[in-house]
This record gives sequence, structure tokens and C-alpha cells, in this order.
Amino acid sequence: MSTRVVAKFGGTSVGSIERIRHSAGLVAEAARRGEAMAVVVSAMAGETDRILGLTQELGAGLGDAETDVALAAGEQVSSALMALALREAGFKSRSFLGWQLPVITDGPAGAARIAGMDVSSLEAAMDAGIIPVLAGFQGITQDGDVRTLGRGGTDLSAAALASALGARCDIYTDVDGVFTTDPRIEPAAGQLEAISHDEMLELAAQGAKVLQTRSVEFAKARGVPMRVLSSFLDAGQSRGTDVVASRDVAERRIVSGVAYARDQARIALVGTSNRSDLPAKAFAALAEAEIGVDMIVQAQARSAGSVTLEFSVAHRDLDKAQAALDTALPGIDMTSETGLAKVSVVGSGLRQRADIARSLFAVLGEESIMVRVLATSEIKISALIDNDAVERAVRALHAAYGLDQV
Ligand code: ADP
Ligand code: ASP
Ligand code: MG
Repeated sequence: MSTRVVAKFGGTSVGSIERIRHSAGLVAEAARRGEAMAVVVSAMAGETDRILGLTQELGAGLGDAETDVALAAGEQVSSALMALALREAGFKSRSFLGWQLPVITDGPAGAARIAGMDVSSLEAAMDAGIIPVLAGFQGITQDGDVRTLGRGGTDLSAAALASALGARCDIYTDVDGVFTTDPRIEPAAGQLEAISHDEMLELAAQGAKVLQTRSVEFAKARGVPMRVLSSFLDAGQSRGTDVVASRDVAERRIVSGVAYARDQARIALVGTSNRSDLPAKAFAALAEAEIGVDMIVQAQARSAGSVTLEFSVAHRDLDKAQAALDTALPGIDMTSETGLAKVSVVGSGLRQRADIARSLFAVLGEESIMVRVLATSEIKISALIDNDAVERAVRALHAAYGLDQV
């Protein structure tokens, strides 16, 4: 049997008819080489933001079930256009929308999870020599309601389809692979030949949007071979980056990359020190509202007998977070600050580097960048800083940890 390959094309890779033709050409080339191809597409670049903006004008937004119905239209258009482009290139092709497989989801509107997918109709198409094009980012609930998978979710659609088909997953995007940091911010960033699931997960979770976090989790859990490649080069020209198990990364590095996430907010709660239930109540309320929290610090406040609990959330979640906290902890003393960003240094070698916090403070201090909150995990260290300082911080850390390409 020929190798099965799922090729996923992101928004810029299907951003115009010209780009769709070029991406279809890459699929055609692989099909001619004898690979059994299935395609997954994102909406054309800018479409998801445009549609989301329209729903926001009417007081909805991400998380509303009607927003999901509107957003899913973006991938409906691009999947049909890709099928037409493949036809133009001389292949039989057809689109599949999420409900047509179906891709079954659970979880909330705007951030649904894939609970399962039935690929029998898609496999039958492949067996009949038809190249299927799945609309990414979408599925339906058991009750038949349209759901979307969270921003960047076509990567997850692709990983899940590859797992169901026993295929390799090629993620085509507008850069040549995974770099040591966003090459649009630091031109000296170097491309990685391979990166471990754990490091990629941490980079993605800290803001490197080249792969969606959940797609990497999925690929790791199911053992799906994943690669990131450029759709802007001709067939065979992209070097790409393999996302693999840690044991398969030949090159040992202390630091693999620097990631950043803009538009963070900090919430501070002040409670009395005998309120040992404060953190548990606060985080339960935030979890209930499906709000991701990180960079948590608890400290004895200056005034005797009180403690402060500080943490960061994405700015877009701030109102929702404050409302949830108000309900769970009526009358709590709460302040917030916006205009913040998070920079993170990621690498499996950080496990052995006890001095990493000191060196990070030193590098940022040299740039007069103030660290508001610091958080570490086994293979990552993150600092909350001002939004305005993010590019300088990324470049300084990239150079300081020896990642600049000479
Ligand atoms: P797509 O639309 O194909 O899904 P995305 O915009 O989601 O593409 O992701 C690709 C972008 O990720 C690149 O254009 C780049 O600016 C950004 N990026 C951030 N960090 C990295 C990194 N470490 N390596 C490569 N690209 C990165
Ligand atoms: N179109 C969706 C988004 O912009 C999904 C994706 O591109 O992966 O987030
Ligand atoms: Mg993406």
C-alpha cells in the first residue's frame, strides 16, 4: 500500500487563487510520486478574523454557538476552492465539511475538542482515486450543532485525520519549518531540523503559533509523524522540521527556542492570610469558565495579615475572568493590569540549569526591561513584561542563549 499523507495548508497557503493553485500543485506532485494524499485546509488568510469581527459587531464573539456557524463558512469556501484547484491540476477531488464525515466534537463553542471522527466515506473516496479535502477547524456535536476547534485548530483537524488514517501529517505554512524564534521578529533565527514533542508543546503553549498546542499534544499521544514545511517553495525545496519523540532528536541543545505571547493581563487578588481557600476557589471558578491561567504567584502582602494572589490570563479573557471571580468570591479586593506580554525560553537542557532565572533577569535587566512575574517549569522559564518591550526581549534572549545564526 502506498504511504498515506495528510497535507494541511494554513490561511496564507490558501490566501488567494494563485496560492491555492501553488498548494494544489504540491499535493499533485506528491500524488504523482505515488503517495496517497488527503488534504486539510484553513480558511483563506484574514477570513476568520473578518467573520469574527462581524459577529462581534452584533455583540457575540468567540464562544457563541452562532459565531461558530459563521466561522465554519471560512473553511467551507477554501475546501471547495482547493478541490476545484486539484481538479484543474488533473485529479479527481472533492471537499468534505466537518458534518459530512462527521468530525464529532465535545466541549464549548469556539474551543471544542475532537471526540472522534468517522473517516469511512473519506477513505472510500481515497480508494476510488479521489483526493479528499477536509474543511479544517470544524466539527459537529452529537446533537448536530456546528462547532469550531479554537484558533489555529486546523492543525488539530489534520493531526486527528492523520491518526485516523494511519498517515503522516505534513503541515504546510508560510515559513520553512520551526525556527529558534519567530523569524519575522528575529531574522537571525535558525531553522531546527527536528524538535521534540515536549519542546514544541512548550513553545506552542507559550505563543509560537506555528503549530497549535493541541495538535502537538494529539500527535504526541497518538504517535502521529508530523512535519512543518513551507508551501511557498516548490516541491522538494522545503527543508522542513520534523516533530519527533525526545529520544529521536539527535542534536542536544540546552535552549531550543524563544516564544512570546502579546496581550496578556495580570490579575491580583488580596485576601486575608487566614483565607487558605482563596486560591482553590479562584482557580476552580476560572477553570469552570474555561479560562487558562498561568504565571501564578502567591505572596504575603506588605500589610500584616493579608496575602496577594497574582496570575496572568490572556487579555481577551480578562472580563470573563473578573466576572467569574466576582461571583465565586463576592467582595474580593481585585485589581488588574493590561498591556503585558510574556516571553519564554524553552529547552530540555534547562533541567540542568539552576542559574537560568538569574541569567534571564540579567539579560532583561541589561535591556532595562522590568520583569513583573516570573514562572518556571521543567523545560521553560517565562517572564511577564510590558507589551512594548516584547521584540527587544525576544532578540536579547535569542542572542544571550546562543541561538543567533552566525
Ligand atoms: P498558518 O496560517 O499556516 O497556520 P500561522 O500564522 O498559524 O500559519 O503560523 C505560522 C507563523 O508562525 C509564521 O509566519 C511565524 O511568524 C510564526 N512563528 C512564531 N514562532 C515561530 C517559530 N518558532 N518558528 C516558525 N514560525 C514561528
Ligand atoms: N481559520 C482558523 C483560524 O484562523 C483555523 C486555522 O487557521 O487553523 O484560527
Ligand atoms: Mg496556524
